[in-house]
Amino acid sequence: RRSGDRRTNFNHRNPASEAQVTSSTEDNGGQGPDYTTSMRTDRCGDLRSDDVGRQVTLCGWVARRREHGEHLAFVDLRDRSGIIQVVVDGAADLRSEYVLQVTGQVRERPADTANDALSTGAIEVDASEVTILSASEPPPFPLDERTDVDEVLRLRHRYVDLRRPRLQKNLEVRATVNSAVRTAMEEQGFIEVETPMLVASTPEGARDFVVPSRKEPGSFYALPQSPQIFKQLCMIGGIDRYYQIARCLRDEDLRADRQFEFMQLDAEASFVSQDDVLTFITHTVASAAEAVTGERPADFPRMSWHEARERYGSDKPDIRFGMELVELTPVFADTDFRAFQAPCVKGIRVPGGADLSRNRLDDLTETCKGWGAKGLVWMKVEADGLNSPVAKFLTGDEQAALRTTLEAEEGDLLLLVADEHHTTCRILGLLRLELGRPPVTEGGLHFLWVVDFPLFEGLDEAGNPMPAHHPFTMPHEDDLETLEAGDLLSVRSQAYDLVLNGWELGSGSVRIHRREIQQKIFSILGIGADEAQERFGFLLDAFRYGAPPHAGFAFGMDRLIAILAGEENIREVIAYPKTQSGADPLTSAPTPIDDRHLEELGLRVLPRSE
Ligand code: ASP
Repeated sequence: RRSGDRRTNFNHRNPASEAQVTSSTEDNGGQGPDYTTSMRTDRCGDLRSDDVGRQVTLCGWVARRREHGEHLAFVDLRDRSGIIQVVVDGAADLRSEYVLQVTGQVRERPADTANDALSTGAIEVDASEVTILSASEPPPFPLDERTDVDEVLRLRHRYVDLRRPRLQKNLEVRATVNSAVRTAMEEQGFIEVETPMLVASTPEGARDFVVPSRKEPGSFYALPQSPQIFKQLCMIGGIDRYYQIARCLRDEDLRADRQFEFMQLDAEASFVSQDDVLTFITHTVASAAEAVTGERPADFPRMSWHEARERYGSDKPDIRFGMELVELTPVFADTDFRAFQAPCVKGIRVPGGADLSRNRLDDLTETCKGWGAKGLVWMKVEADGLNSPVAKFLTGDEQAALRTTLEAEEGDLLLLVADEHHTTCRILGLLRLELGRPPVTEGGLHFLWVVDFPLFEGLDEAGNPMPAHHPFTMPHEDDLETLEAGDLLSVRSQAYDLVLNGWELGSGSVRIHRREIQQKIFSILGIGADEAQERFGFLLDAFRYGAPPHAGFAFGMDRLIAILAGEENIREVIAYPKTQSGADPLTSAPTPIDDRHLEELGLRVLPRSE
C-alpha cells in the first residue's frame, strides 16, 4: 500500500485551529518571507526532499485528482508557490478547484513515479487529515496551460484564470518590476508624488475620458492622459526629482500593446539636460530588467530620429534584425524607367527570399498599396541575373549598381519602393517588419534611445502643425532661428523615445520653461491666446513665478513587464484588463446608468444612431 496505515481523516467545515498547526521549526535563514500562518505550515511549491519526514499543513486548490486503485487518490494541490502531490486514502469528494487544508507527512515518492517537471516532483504528502475549506463548481474552463481558452471567457472568470501558474508568474514579474523601479528611482533621489485623477484635459494627442460634474452640470473632469502638467508644476514647486507609477487613461483603440488605462513610470527633474534624463531612465529600466532576468542589460545605444527613419523607416526601429533600408536614389538618378523617376528610391534585401512564391509577392504588393504605396518592385537574384518583371527596363549598369549597393547574393529577394521620401521610408519600414520581425519576446532585450525628434510631425487637416511629442517640448537650441523663420517641419526638438525590441516603451523631453516660448508654440499649433489662457492659463501663469529648467520622461510599465515576462500581449500581465473592444466581461463595464443619476448630472442620452 502506498499510504500509511491510517486512513485520511476528512473534515467538512472547520479548519485546524492555530493550536493544531505546528509551525515549521526550520529557520528560513532570511531567504524571503515566512509564509507560515495560523492555517498552514508551508506553501505547496516550497517543499523539497529536505522536508521528508516533516509533518506539514498546506492550504490550496485541487488542481487535479487521479484515482489509484480502490481507495487511493492523488490530488495535486496548488497555491501561489506551485503544486505538490498529496496522497489521500479513503473516499472523499474532492473535486477540481475545491479549497483544501491538508495535514500529512512529507515523504519520498517511489523512484519510478518521480516527476522531474515539478520542483516538488521527488516528494509527496501522505495526508492524514483533509478539510474542505470551500467547495467549487466545475471550473468554467480547464486551468492547464495547454487548452486555448476564449479570452472573453477567461476575463469573465478572471479570478479563476488568475490561478493559472502563468498569470501568477506574470503578476509576480509585475510586482518585481514595480518594486525595482521604485528602488532605482529612489536611489537616484526621486520622490514619489501622487497627482490627481480628476483633472482638466492634458494634451497627449489622444481622446480624453471624461467624468461629468454633479456640482456643475454641463462641466466635466478629464481623466489624466498623463500627469504631464502636474509634474511640470511640481518642478516649479521645487520638488526637483519627482516620480510616480501613474495610471494614465487614453480613449484610443485597443491593441496588443495598448489598453484604455495603463501604468507609466512618470518622472521629471529640474536643472538637468537630456543626457541626465537618459542616464536616470537607463539606470531604472536596466535595474528592472536585471531584477527579473538576473542579468543587467548593457548600456543602451542611441540613434537620431533621422537615422532611424533612413535605416529602418521607423521612429521605433526594431534593431534585432537586419534588412535595413538602402538608399538607391543615386543609382537611378538618370534612369529611363518611369517608376524609378521619383524623389526617393530605397530597397531592402531579404536574404534567401528568392523562393517566395508569386502569390506571396502579389500579396505583399497589395499590402504595400494598402499602406499607401504606388507599388512594390521585386527582384529575385538568380545565377544568370535579376529575375523581375521590371528587369527589362533597367540598364546593365543600373542592375549591377543595384546589386552592389544592396550587397545582393544569389538567392536573395530585393524589394524596392520609389516615392516621396517619407512614403518610401515608411512603406519599406513596414515591409521589413512584415518579413523579418521576430515575436517581441525573442532574441533578448534590445533597448535603443531615439533622440532628436522633429518638433512637429506634419500638418493636420486645418494646416496646423502637429506636435511630434506634446506642446510642452523644448525646440532644439540650435533650431530656434529656424523656428522664427517659420520652417517648422525642419525644427528639431529636445525629445527622445526609448524603444525595446521595436516597441515604443516611452517618451520624454526637455520642457519649455519660459512663458514666451510656450505661448509661441501654442500659437504655432493654432491654439489662440484666449484658448491657451483658458486651457493652460494656470501653466502659463505658473511660469511667471520662477520656473526652473526641467526635463522628464515616462515609460509604459505594462509593455516593459510584458516583454520581461515573455508575453506578446499586455493583457497577460494586467490583473483585470479590458477586451480588445474595451469591455470588461467580469463586471460588464461599461454599463448604462439610471435616469435619476443622469438627471443629477444634468445629462441626457441621445438615441444611438444606427
Ligand atoms: N507625458 C509624456 C507621455 O505620457 C511623457 C513625458 O513627456 O514625460 O508620453
